[in-house]
Amino acid sequence: MQNSLFCLKNKRALITGSTQGIGLSLAYGLAASGAAIVLNGRNEERVRETAAKMRAEGHTVDYVVFDVTDQAAVQAGIERVEREIGPIDILINNAGIQRRAPLEDFAAESWAAILETNLSSVFYVSQAVARHMIPRGRGKIVNICSVQSLLGRPTIAPYTAAKGGVANLTKGMCADWAKYGIQANGLAPGYFATEMNRALVENEEFSAWLCKRTPANRWGKVEELQGAAIFLSSAASDFVNGQIIYVDGGMTSCV
Ligand code: NDP
Repeated sequence: MQNSLFCLKNKRALITGSTQGIGLSLAYGLAASGAAIVLNGRNEERVRETAAKMRAEGHTVDYVVFDVTDQAAVQAGIERVEREIGPIDILINNAGIQRRAPLEDFAAESWAAILETNLSSVFYVSQAVARHMIPRGRGKIVNICSVQSLLGRPTIAPYTAAKGGVANLTKGMCADWAKYGIQANGLAPGYFATEMNRALVENEEFSAWLCKRTPANRWGKVEELQGAAIFLSSAASDFVNGQIIYVDGGMTSCV
């Protein structure tokens, strides 16, 4: 017998940046628990093809194309989903980018791109979605944070600033929206072998350091983020609010 606490049947989940990597894996995870999925990305053809593949595999999938850094496009996209597809019960703020340089050399344009894509976007999308969740008196928001919400790391200071911001924005969402029946929590991955980390995966020295630094002694697999995402999207977490769950093989628990 299935545990209905984790069941996402009759729920619709929008996952930003879900054409690959962690976002796509979370889409599959939530779909396996019964959710209808709305995929998102910037490239219409990619999003459409990803949705078609998931549909062919038996899942209920729609898509909406917008760049999460474009507030007007975000608002128009959310309105279209709510009007033409249906209510968004679950929002996963996942879209993100990474750029690397020592902080003393970091270009202002790169700083702005990282802050816009990783932090401001969470405000844009969550506000647009929450305006629909508030009158309904319910909703789940899962913000993808990072171990860098907590820890510094050379060459990625702006990313660290943004992800720290996402973790604290999560607490602000809890403070403002808990009274409307909305739970906003963070899911903070450790290191996962996605396109974003391709150069690190190919760097043997980095991989050796990572394994040594991680009690689990390995990279994470994107499927290993699904359980926490399902928990935070489901009735099982109805009294969990403003929390950050680290799924990092123990990295942030040990020095
Ligand atoms: P990927 O680079 O593999 O995927 C990023 C996704 O985001 C793509 O689907 C891309 O879609 C989308 N995207 C990027 N920019 C935008 C934008 N402006 N508007 C809409 N969509 C956008 O990254 P990961 O899967 O590795 O990372 C996903 C999230 O997890 C990010 O927030 C990242 O910071 C976080 N994270 C990742 C970790 C890891 O180890 N990989 C660790 C900790 C956190 P498209 O290009 O088609 O538009």
